Parts: sequence; structure tokens; C-alpha cells
Amino acid sequence: MPPAQREPASPELRSTARLKGLMAAHFAGVDRAARERTAPVAWCTSVGPVELLRALGYEVFFPENHGALLGASRAAGETMGRAHALGYSPDICSYLTSDIGAYLAKKTPLARYGLAAPPRPDLLLFSTNQCREVRDWFEFYGREWKVPVVGVTSFRDVGTVEDHHVDAITRQLEGLVPALEAVAGRRLDARSLEEAVARSRACSDGWRDCLRTSARRPAPLTFFDATIHMGPAVVLRGTAEACDYYLALREELEGHVREGRGTLRRERFRLYWDGMPIWGRLRDLATLFAELETSVVASTYCNSWIFEALDPRDPLRSMARASLELFIARAEEPKQRYLERMVAEFAVDGVIFHDSRTCPNNSNARFGLPRRLRDGAGVPVLVLDGDLNDLRCFSDEQARTNIEAFVEQLEGAGPRASGERARYA
Ligand code: SF4
Repeated sequence: MPPAQREPASPELRSTARLKGLMAAHFAGVDRAARERTAPVAWCTSVGPVELLRALGYEVFFPENHGALLGASRAAGETMGRAHALGYSPDICSYLTSDIGAYLAKKTPLARYGLAAPPRPDLLLFSTNQCREVRDWFEFYGREWKVPVVGVTSFRDVGTVEDHHVDAITRQLEGLVPALEAVAGRRLDARSLEEAVARSRACSDGWRDCLRTSARRPAPLTFFDATIHMGPAVVLRGTAEACDYYLALREELEGHVREGRGTLRRERFRLYWDGMPIWGRLRDLATLFAELETSVVASTYCNSWIFEALDPRDPLRSMARASLELFIARAEEPKQRYLERMVAEFAVDGVIFHDSRTCPNNSNARFGLPRRLRDGAGVPVLVLDGDLNDLRCFSDEQARTNIEAFVEQLEGAGPRASGERARYA
């Protein structure tokens, strides 16, 4: 039964005010560079080789972040249709269709930061380590604005990351340099690249430490909060500002751990979230889980900006390795091993797989992994149908019913330590 006592969604962290300022300054900085031509502007995919751009003095914009803002502000519902009308299928990435549709409709949630439109790039840089969609997305803008589109065509479904994979990606990264230099109008300096990689690594370590605080009980940070606080790890990776931010956030979270303060007054159950966020329902889902006194304490999605292979002593090879080791680029077996580690590290009682309709790349419920994880790790799993931005693929009523039933199932299963396995939901 759902508990009688209703909990509010998590109270805001003190760092949230700083986060807002940081994100506003980021958008204003890229916008200024594009309008006043004070620095070259590049668009980059969210787990692309941004360190090369930082080392060459680019201001960097991340369209996936724009896609997420379109989803969270629910503007995506209006804009996607414009891209569908242009021949982009409703079945492909709804970030892509939301963003291209917004461009066609001349709409942007960045208006709240004073931007009339996303800053226009001099170059677009992709890596298909996450999906092919990002390349198609960037090529739309390359045709539109007649600017270079360059990138890395990566391996996918990688089992063990071998040296030959790393060699091949390193060669592609090296091959990008002349095009990036030509637009930047300067040569790549080895020291600048090492420094950018060192800052990316520090940002990654800081973000990892923040996320790991939720291995403690009660968790001081939920998945829903983390999707907001990950902003600097995405758009400011490779900058000192991002490193400083995560030092401060970690300190605040560790303070909460020391005081025994979690996001919930009572944390009855702990869950892991696999797959994309449902941006237009973040708050509703955060509230629902809080009502159920259940904390979603960790996620594959937020962990995706942890790059432990980055090493400034070997910048390009370590960037190649970090890119290949990404969860999204891996085969089913390493994915299962990773999830089993997360289940143990965060001591979760169950795992939710969000099967995101338009992102098969980041949906892991389609080839039997939930059942194998249930059997391997001994945790109940729930597969939730939805989408990152297209809310037509998400039923509020069905999701609530399924989540409430799942939590009831956890109640029936008793503490996880009993080893009981609940029914596959
Ligand atoms: S990983 Fe999924 S959501 Fe992200 S850009 Fe690719 S298809 Fe879209």
C-alpha cells in the first residue's frame, strides 16, 4: 500500500543558486562569442571530444542540452512536428526532432537566458560513440549554414575495449585536428590539450564523487536532482568553473551525509534508473517517488559523464579510451556487469529500465537485459515505457500504476538482503 504520509519532492540544495548562475553565464558566453565574433563557436555532441575544442579556444554549445531544455519546458510537444513534416520520422530521436523543429519554428527555451536563438556555430563536431543520430542531426545544420561538420565514427556494442579500438579512434582524433585548427585560426598546442584533459578529468572525478554520496543511506541526491546538477559536467567539461562547482557541491552533499540528511524524511526503498530521463515529467516522477518514500539513488544516465580513463599524460589516447568505455557504446555483457556493480555499490532494492521509444541507443530493455540482471543481481526490475521528449509515448496513469505496484512488490519482497526475487514486472 502507498504510505499515508505524503512527502514533498526533494528540497533544493544550496548549490542550486550557483548552478543557475553558472549555466546562465555559459549560455551568455557562447551567445556573445557567436554575435560579436570574439571566439570561434563549435557545437559538440554531449560525450564528444570537447577537449580539442577547449584547447583551441572555442566556445562550445551542446545541442543535446538544448533538446533536454525543450523537453523539460514541454516546448518539444509543439516543435517536433515541424521536423516530422520535413521527413524526420517520429520514431527517431526526439531530441533531434525537438531541436530541428525548434529551429524551424524559431523557438528556444534559451529565451529565459536572454538568447533569441541557439548560438550559430562555425563548426560542428560529433562522435557517434553514442548513436548515429547525432551525425544526421549535425549534418542538417551543416547543410543549413554551410559550415564544416567533422567527427569520429566510433565503434558500437564493444565487448572488451582492445588496443586496436583505441588506436583507431586515436587516429580519427588526430585526423580532426587540421579542420579544427583551420576554423580556429591557430595551431593546437600540446600543453593546452593536456590542461583541457586534466580539467575534464577533474570535472569527471568531482561529479563521480557527488554521485557516490548517494551510496550512503539516506541518499542526499536523487536521480531527478542529479539530472539538473549534471549541467556543468555536460556543457562545461574541460573548464575550471565545472571543477570548482563539483568541489562545492560535493562539500554540501558530504555535509548532508554527515548530518544524516537525505532528500526524504524516510527512505524505505532505493532504486536505480537505467535509460534516459523523461524530461517533461521529472518533477511529477520525483514527487511520486517521494510520496512512496522511495529514493532513486543512481542512474546510468548521470554516470555517463564520468570518464575515468582520461589522462593528461596521454591526452588523445586517453580521450579515445574514455569514449570507447562509455556504457552506451558497450555490448550487453559489459553493460550487465556494470549494472550489477551499481546495484551492489548503491545497495538498491530494484531497477527501473526506462524504455525510451525514440532512443533505442540508450534503452536497455529490448534484448533481455532486465531479466538477466534480475537473475544475476537478484533484484526486481520494472520496465517503464516512455520517451525522453515525446510525451505521446508516456502514459501518466499507467506509469503511476506500474510504479506503485512495483513499490508494493518491494514491500512484499522484504529487505533485499533476504535474497528473495520478486516477479518480473
Ligand atoms: S543517445 Fe538517444 S537521445 Fe541521445 S542523441 Fe542519440 S538517439 Fe538522441
